[in-house]
Amino acid sequence: EPDPTLRPEPRPEDADRALRPQSLGEFVGQKEARANLAVFIESARQRGSAMDHTLFYGPPGLGKTTLAQIMARELGVNFRMTSGPVLAKAGDLAAILTNLDERDVLFIDEIHRLNPVVEEVLYPAMEDFELDLVIGEGPAARTVRIDLQPFTLVGATTRLGLLTTPLRDRFGIPTRLEFYTVDELVRIVTRGAGLLGARITDDGATEIARRARGTPRIAGRLLRRVVDFALVEGDGEVNQALADMALRRLGVDDLGLDGADRRYLRLLAEHYGGGPVGVETIAAALSEARDAIEEVIEPFLLQQGLIQRTPRGRMLGARAWTHLGLTAPRPVDQ
Ligand code: ADP
Repeated sequence: EPDPTLRPEPRPEDADRALRPQSLGEFVGQKEARANLAVFIESARQRGSAMDHTLFYGPPGLGKTTLAQIMARELGVNFRMTSGPVLAKAGDLAAILTNLDERDVLFIDEIHRLNPVVEEVLYPAMEDFELDLVIGEGPAARTVRIDLQPFTLVGATTRLGLLTTPLRDRFGIPTRLEFYTVDELVRIVTRGAGLLGARITDDGATEIARRARGTPRIAGRLLRRVVDFALVEGDGEVNQALADMALRRLGVDDLGLDGADRRYLRLLAEHYGGGPVGVETIAAALSEARDAIEEVIEPFLLQQGLIQRTPRGRMLGARAWTHLGLTAPRPVDQ
């Protein structure tokens, strides 16, 4: 079984916070997104108005929450955080909106999971900074309109395709976050080691970065575990040999795949001749939620060319057969 702490989870734990960059300047990677945000932040500051609503989308652990917090800090406003599934009733959102100060940042994580009733409340709030509240019930019910302070909504989602079009259209700044390069992750790991007070060599940082699935959150988790091994079984220094030994013991292979990734690939190889297989079938066979497979496991496998998505289902790429040490039953497309 894979160590569950190696999986990026929507809820960052306390330990994540220590490594969180505090400013755009400290934020590594996402060059394009960072450059554009710097302009929009500066423009909002000069105009003294609320920044446009911003949507961050991309796989978990790439820095959506971190960027939203940085935006608030650089805009010099409060940061309020909630999430789609938490907002059960229209009143829950209304209570948050009416308590915002002028130009505040309201961050809604997993915004694709908003209840439709709550989403309806959000439209006029985003567009006109107005709230239409229904007071009372039955024939006595009436609608009151409440003016809100101008604010910036920052939405985050791992599944852009699940957002309704009206909601998507109300974000002036849609921003896609990409997997990080090894070089970027090396910088993140090296900085993280410094913050943890751990000794690390360049090749030690590279080994962790290479096997972190392009994801800063995973890099941070792997770093912490490798530092544990360095302290207990080494001389405290994280070098390449130590990192390699520790990552192997954690079940993280040479490409950075963990047990769940390998189970996924092996299922396709050994039970379906490399596919195509529908995602529902894969979910049932692995006893995993379809959402988890699509949000957490597949994006990195797709990016690495280990699998392909076709209209008829998922297929193993040539690289996956090699990685598993198996021979494809028939030629596969690269
Ligand atoms: P998301 O909201 O996309 O799931 P987070 O913003 O919670 O991801 O980031 C996860 C963790 O990864 C953070 O706690 C932070 O420590 C780290 N992190 C994310 N992006 C960066 C970055 N660009 N540089 C350094 N660390 C980062």
